[in-house]
Amino acid sequence: MNFNYYIPTKILFGPGKLNELQKEPLPGKKALIVTTAGKSVKRYGYLSRLEKILTSKGIEYILFDKILPNPIKSHVMEGAELAKKENCDFVIGLGGGSSIDSAKSIAVMAKNEGDYWDYISGGSGKGKPVENGALPIVAITTTAGTGTEADPWTVITKEDTNEKIGFGNEHTFPVLSVVDPELMFSVPKELTAYQGFDALFHATEGFIANIATPISDAYALKSIELIAKYLPICVKDGMNIEARTNVALANTLSGLVESTSSCTSEHSMEHALSANHPELPHGAGLIMLSEAYYTFFANKVPDKFIAMARAMGIDVDSLNEEDRPMAFVKALIKLQQECEVQNLTMSSYGIKKEEIPSLAQNAHKTMGGLFTVDPYKLSMEETEKIMYNAYK
Ligand SMILES: [Zn+2]
Repeated sequence: MNFNYYIPTKILFGPGKLNELQKEPLPGKKALIVTTAGKSVKRYGYLSRLEKILTSKGIEYILFDKILPNPIKSHVMEGAELAKKENCDFVIGLGGGSSIDSAKSIAVMAKNEGDYWDYISGGSGKGKPVENGALPIVAITTTAGTGTEADPWTVITKEDTNEKIGFGNEHTFPVLSVVDPELMFSVPKELTAYQGFDALFHATEGFIANIATPISDAYALKSIELIAKYLPICVKDGMNIEARTNVALANTLSGLVESTSSCTSEHSMEHALSANHPELPHGAGLIMLSEAYYTFFANKVPDKFIAMARAMGIDVDSLNEEDRPMAFVKALIKLQQECEVQNLTMSSYGIKKEEIPSLAQNAHKTMGGLFTVDPYKLSMEETEKIMYNAYK
């Protein structure tokens, strides 16, 4: 057993925690606030609350509010130019994963020369080292899905080549994250479900990954347990603060899983889907793949699947030994039914069956690294087979 553990993020967690930012030292004098082009951070007053806090602390700010649900490279470059021009000395990501991920990538490009894709490993990225680090990053999350507030990862799409690739290093951990479940009341039902399943899969993938550690396992099993118990409640009653808080905790735990283990190839395959069909929400893409993906792996690492089934509340010991690993997949489908997402189909997002070979190629080419941490090495044919089995 050997592992390294490094998570340099201060996390303020709990209902009402946004107010605590008032008392918190911030890492600069002028912030670039990165948020979405959507209206919710404005409509629900989150942005104005943040602006008021910054003003009262004597911190200047500039707003960059163009980020799309599937964030793109050109906005990273544009935000970084703005940060440089305005001499911003830190970046605040306010919103869901897309805003916070963009804030991380902008923080890197505000301090490094050239193009963002110069620093990306995979696909057409040049994999250059990030020499100058990044501006300090503050993350204020208004959703429970990506876990980005507790990990160094950012996922950006290069829109001209349809490559959606994760990136991160020790400089892209937020220095400070606020996880205030009260900011999540406004997330609509469907997105609550998609994001909750994204968090679940960060935990399940991190648990079956061949680089899992005892620490990531502890975070992952707790996250799986909380999502199975509280996500259906959260989907049915978005104003239930106990459910919102527990799903937010599960999400932060799954971010810690991503910091201590890794996602696996389910994420590579999903990135291929949503890079080529940007209107497909990431969590929905993962849900579409999940039954086929986990069915394929259930008997490759049966003990892990039995532990995950147990975390989902299944009385595994009462089952025949040969049925135990698949009990996790059955519980997963039941959870999808409870959250009303069992009928999602690729075809309804315009994905054609004939695209699968090229999508499988894209997954290996752009996010090949995640295939190396799968508990079993998938061939191209097996990758296609999982995607065909998932196709509806
Ligand atoms: Zn994800």
